[in-house]
Amino acid sequence: MQLYNSLTHKKEEFVPHTPGKVGMYTCGPTVYHFAHIGNLRTYIMEDILDRYLRYAGYDVTRVMNITDVGHLTGDTDTGEDKMLQGAKREHKTVLEIAKYYTDAFFEDCRKLRIRTPDHVQPATGCIEDFIRVISSLLEKGYAYQAGGNIYFDTSKLEKYYVFHGFREEDLAVGVRDGVEEDRNKRNQADFVLWFTKSKFDNQELKWNSPWGLGYPGWHIECSCISMKYLGEYLDIHCGGIDNAFPHHTNEIAQSEAYVGHPWCSYWFHVLHLNTASGKMSKSKGEFLTVSLLESKGYDPLEYRYFCLQSHYRKSLVFTYENLDNAAVAYRKLKAKIAALTPVAGEAYDEAGAAPLKAAFCAALDNDINTSLAITAVYDVLKAPVNATTKLALIEDFDRVLALDLTAPAAEEKKPAQTQSGALDAASIEAAIAARAEAKKAKNYAEADRIRAELAAQGVTLTDTPNGTTYTVG
Ligand code: AMP
Ligand code: ZN
Repeated sequence: MQLYNSLTHKKEEFVPHTPGKVGMYTCGPTVYHFAHIGNLRTYIMEDILDRYLRYAGYDVTRVMNITDVGHLTGDTDTGEDKMLQGAKREHKTVLEIAKYYTDAFFEDCRKLRIRTPDHVQPATGCIEDFIRVISSLLEKGYAYQAGGNIYFDTSKLEKYYVFHGFREEDLAVGVRDGVEEDRNKRNQADFVLWFTKSKFDNQELKWNSPWGLGYPGWHIECSCISMKYLGEYLDIHCGGIDNAFPHHTNEIAQSEAYVGHPWCSYWFHVLHLNTASGKMSKSKGEFLTVSLLESKGYDPLEYRYFCLQSHYRKSLVFTYENLDNAAVAYRKLKAKIAALTPVAGEAYDEAGAAPLKAAFCAALDNDINTSLAITAVYDVLKAPVNATTKLALIEDFDRVLALDLTAPAAEEKKPAQTQSGALDAASIEAAIAARAEAKKAKNYAEADRIRAELAAQGVTLTDTPNGTTYTVG
């Protein structure tokens, strides 16, 4: 199997560290808000890789962290903890926010048929592991204490900028985040391993450490959680392309400093889903969710199909028109499959099936080419083999594609609504009235819950002196 490796910038033959076994690590969600469909594109494409490795006979162990502490609004240790931001927004505790959005994430994954990794580990459950690794980095001289925090010293490495295309300039802080540069850092690229005396005094979750009461930085969690479950050698590390720098660059720096040898062999980065106006982003507060698509009449698997139609190493533009085209193609494909009628006593045509299966595997062996893998399904429908063979092959391919191809078509869906039709005006007005009541009763948590629920369905509220107005879309 050929896999593109972002570390070497080329397709390489995939050879795991231990023959037959694959250790795979996935950066999990930061659970301060719903996952948007861009995040989920990344998880869908990683899921295909995971499923295909299993289909190809590998014994895969996949690990995912849940970021519930330490990921600041700026990726270079600037801003405030995203979890705290979420908690403030919804007047809840950080742990309540974490639980709510972790559950919501896995519910989205279930709808999109994304397998749950073998180990799912919240960062707050591994504080001792972080402290142990940070202590070792300090002992080895790769870390230092300054201004109360512990930093990784990137000048101790022969090469820090390991991913192509990322340079010192990308680290510029101050301008982008409107936050002062951290003067405790010896080198601009240094990053925080542990915050103690931090500028974020209202941090909700804090733990005792040899350096005082504090909390971990974001990057250390992925290195530690990966090593906790998968040991010192990792085969594949996955994530969205935005994570390559600084997050994955920092993971490599600290992991290799800690283990003293190369750590992860293959880096699998999924390019972004964009909207016509640019990158979809949780922090902008306006984003598309699976529930929103459902409320407009789409089946989540139509979105999965939409994602599989293009290659993971190309950025993808989301428009409703593109999604509609994918939805129509998906429904037609399922209808064709449903129309296959095996004749009693018909035997599976081994010889006829072999080249069709080979074409499917060749597509995925070529750097997970999912659009060609879908073409292989259409080729099965056209092939001169009997219906029994066609159905068996499609069922087999669906172990990887997970599009529910042979399940009976769901009852006719209501037609996809227009962008502005997620909720009707009466329901929105009723929700606004309920929110006003909640505010009057000083039940701000409930008021914010209603606002968040509407936001998830594309309805944005604005409070004006004359009452609350809303925009949809
Ligand atoms: P987060 O919850 O922000 O930590 O992100 C979860 C995953 O989604 C990470 O792997 C990100 O790299 C990825 N991601 C973030 N934005 C996008 C996007 N617009 N398209 C695809 N993947 C994304
Ligand atoms: Zn990570």
